[in-house]
Amino acid sequence: MQAKTSKRNGGASARRTSVDAVVIGAGFAGLYMLHRLRKLGLSVVVFERGDGVGGTWYWNRYPGARCDTESMTYSYSFSGDLEQEWEWSERYALQSEILAYANHVAERFDLLRDIELNTAVRSVVFDELEQTWQVTTEGGEKVSARFCISAVGCLSAATMPDYPGLKDYTGEWYHTGRWPHEPVSFAGKRIGIIGTGSSGVQSTIAIAKEAAHLHVFQRTPNYSIPAWNGPLAREDAAKLKENYAAWREAARYSQIGIPFESNGKSAKSVPVEEREREFEAAWAEGGFNFVMSYPDLLMDIESNRTAADFVERKIRATVNDPAVADLLIPKDHPIGTKRLCVDTGYYETFNRDNVTLVDIRNAPIETITAEGLRTRDASYALDVIVFATGFDAITGPLLKIDIRGRGGERLVDKWAEGPRTYLGLATAGFPNLFMITGPGSPCVLSNMLTSIEQHVDWMVTCIERMRDEGSATIEPNVQAEDDWVKTVHEVGHTTLYPMANSWYTGANIPGKVRMFTPYAGGVGTYRQICDAVAEKNYEGFTFTPTGARSRVSDDRPAVQTQGR
Ligand code: NAP
Repeated sequence: MQAKTSKRNGGASARRTSVDAVVIGAGFAGLYMLHRLRKLGLSVVVFERGDGVGGTWYWNRYPGARCDTESMTYSYSFSGDLEQEWEWSERYALQSEILAYANHVAERFDLLRDIELNTAVRSVVFDELEQTWQVTTEGGEKVSARFCISAVGCLSAATMPDYPGLKDYTGEWYHTGRWPHEPVSFAGKRIGIIGTGSSGVQSTIAIAKEAAHLHVFQRTPNYSIPAWNGPLAREDAAKLKENYAAWREAARYSQIGIPFESNGKSAKSVPVEEREREFEAAWAEGGFNFVMSYPDLLMDIESNRTAADFVERKIRATVNDPAVADLLIPKDHPIGTKRLCVDTGYYETFNRDNVTLVDIRNAPIETITAEGLRTRDASYALDVIVFATGFDAITGPLLKIDIRGRGGERLVDKWAEGPRTYLGLATAGFPNLFMITGPGSPCVLSNMLTSIEQHVDWMVTCIERMRDEGSATIEPNVQAEDDWVKTVHEVGHTTLYPMANSWYTGANIPGKVRMFTPYAGGVGTYRQICDAVAEKNYEGFTFTPTGARSRVSDDRPAVQTQGR
């Protein structure tokens, strides 16, 4: 990682105890926010708990980690020079290449001087008198800031199962989301991997190639679609670059931030042969467009079934052992309602002699032992255990920080029954606290880079407007927030997503309120809603003018209330 050392000891905040804005996290969201705020002339410090930038791509360096959105799409669009000059080597970039890109961006735009690495934020408390946020780091540094912007990501709070016995385990163990920076060798070793989501699928393929033996402990099978990854042909990249602006614009107004062409038909209504041809073509193309091929695949259970049946046939045709194939076929959720996996050779991996699939749905893991682990039915000796067990998603990273708004209200209490935001951008009672890709926005249902840029652009325009008009604070009105939470719920329930026990709904975390929190209406529609709110003078938000006492935690309209 280049140029990080200068920030290690005494970075930005050591020089300043008061700034215009604190940004939490130096992943793609934090980097772009810093760049935009600085251009606006604000003083900014970014706190990043890792010792480098890159967020997701800094932490998730497990074997086989790569993005399953295509490289040319999963990249910033804000700089024409950057997007023209950067060359991706593969259709789907490896983690190391994406991390190199994040570092390149940080250097190219001179961002590192305002990033405090190795610095986790412990608390963020609103000072009502000063109308500023008091940000305290784990190391005890304190910085006050007018704006606090969360760029903590949706999938950064890794979770471990609470099996007993881990402390007595004598082998090595790793979580995919906290992978060490040093090389991990699997050669000649007996490996167990727990979890078959995207991280489990990717690491299974890679580890199987090296391990003496790999046991894959599967509780719930997932659908996986081939990526057909390979080198990115220079001519293809050049062709797209000629038209990059139009491509990006299409992404911004698409359903998921990736321009797919849907045929506009209902899958269940077309003749079988036509549907089969369409699915074959989408399968051959690879990636997420498989579930976008018909627009009703995620809306209509019968149409969804046609796609699930197609994939089931593909799995059976690929996996040699019919019993293993049967185990790998999902039975408890419609296809696409748990995040699809995208792979290169996942199902084929189960034809290898050194790979065994273990069903822990019927025979759960009971304990980790000194030598490995024990399920209800058998013991397994393992030199390495890989936990690919996922994340406390969407709200987890934010709620790990002690955030207190007006009247000392804790965000964790306010969201005890599920997150409440207006547009996924902000929450009532927490003035000048913005959330990039927060709950209630398309966030995890979209290409993150598209959504990050949209959120940052919207927030920066809002902050600029506040500066020009002399506003001290902005926050959502409770009514606007309530309406938005209802909208997110209603739109979500027009889809099949809530049918799955997924991290989208919080079902993967014991005790977490079950609620489908992303906005499922599509990034294009969402962008139009956000733009309309801004055009109507930030309808649904309340501003207080500089110098005025901000209102105390009731819902009486304050100065400059905008509608709703
Ligand atoms: P995940 O999708 O939540 O998968 C976690 C897996 O661990 C599931 O199979 C889950 O089983 C299993 N698991 C969790 N707790 C368990 C327990 N106590 N006992 C047994 N099994 C347990 O997490 P992930 O694979 O890390 O992926 C999370 C998300 O990150 C993805 O959906 C994707 O959005 C993103 N991601 C993207 C990429 C990419 O772009 N290539 C790569 C990796 C991740 P159950 O299903 O039964 O709960």
